[in-house]
Amino acid sequence: MRKSAGKIALLTAFLVMLFSTLSFAATVPGGPSTNGNTSINSMLSYEDVVKTLKSIEQTSKGKVEVFTLDRFGKSEQGRSIYVAKVGTGEKKIWIQAQIHGNEKLVTEAALQLLKTYASNSSKEVQTVLEESTLYFIPMYNPDGAEMNTRGTKVMETGQLLDLNRDWAAEGGFKANESKVVYSYWAELKPDFAIDLHHQGLKQIYGTNEATSFSLGISLAPNGPTLPAYKNYNDVTRQMLAYVYDEMNGYGYTHIDRYQIVDSEKQVGYDIDIKGGVVSAMMMGLNFNGLNPENHSHPAVFFETKGNSSDGSLGQKSNGYLTKQNYLALKSLIYGYVTGEVNDVDPESWNRIPSYPLAGYWTDYNGIVPAESSGF
Ligand SMILES: [Zn+2]
Repeated sequence: MRKSAGKIALLTAFLVMLFSTLSFAATVPGGPSTNGNTSINSMLSYEDVVKTLKSIEQTSKGKVEVFTLDRFGKSEQGRSIYVAKVGTGEKKIWIQAQIHGNEKLVTEAALQLLKTYASNSSKEVQTVLEESTLYFIPMYNPDGAEMNTRGTKVMETGQLLDLNRDWAAEGGFKANESKVVYSYWAELKPDFAIDLHHQGLKQIYGTNEATSFSLGISLAPNGPTLPAYKNYNDVTRQMLAYVYDEMNGYGYTHIDRYQIVDSEKQVGYDIDIKGGVVSAMMMGLNFNGLNPENHSHPAVFFETKGNSSDGSLGQKSNGYLTKQNYLALKSLIYGYVTGEVNDVDPESWNRIPSYPLAGYWTDYNGIVPAESSGF
């Protein structure tokens, strides 16, 4: 592919922004000092998460089951990866948080929601638990969480690795975490997944308002890849349009579509990342012969403002951001299990604020201009 100098510069500038801005560059050894004002003391450590999970399990009267994925292996530094299961219904919903270790509040949100399902007996909760079984992975990347880094370190090679690029058919699965979680995913065969992240600071297009929450699909709708996979092009847009409306109803309005934004030109790039975990899920990746039938399912991701290594999270806003994430997650799960999301017009996805689309940000072909994608 021909790349202009401008595009290469842009690629460099935004390389670190995928799924979460600036954080990896700021935390690699020898990188710039962050001097952030983020207090991570108020955020959950790996040990806190394990304790919280066990306490939720204990008080749930048998509703919640907590277990590790040790039978598939452990993290690069030897930590167990935990799963919490709740519900008795047929639809299997996968919720993963903190695949990027410096994205802390999403774990808190996931645990709060698990607590709700464990203890609340409202009709909404009962419906969810009767119709579905939820599998929470609240801390996908325990080593990164402990190091407060986006990626993890592959012990054998010393390589710093973004786990959310490691479910790749070729050259992927370098880290234990990827093999462990993938093996479990291939065995479980979920029906739907939600992936929780944090992103750097950005503004809602055409306003001076900071984005507090972005809704994303890791293979761009109507982009180069997704339309070939079942009806996911519609279903994922329906889901996010549904969440957007629900959140507006709760009074959360600083929500937009996840894009990589060129703030100078005021344009955005939709991502099309095949090595991302939730992308691989939609594409039905068969790694090591573990998914021979190419089981696949729709998946979306959420991005909450800020992370804990670039100093963009303040304690004051943490409660708000966690609650927002919690409500979005809870709404989407309810909409999914009740089928309400199916009543949404996929085109209403266009109502979610976004920047004019300049192209697709890929991990296989650089930037693909929007006009050449055939859509
Ligand atoms: Zn992330």
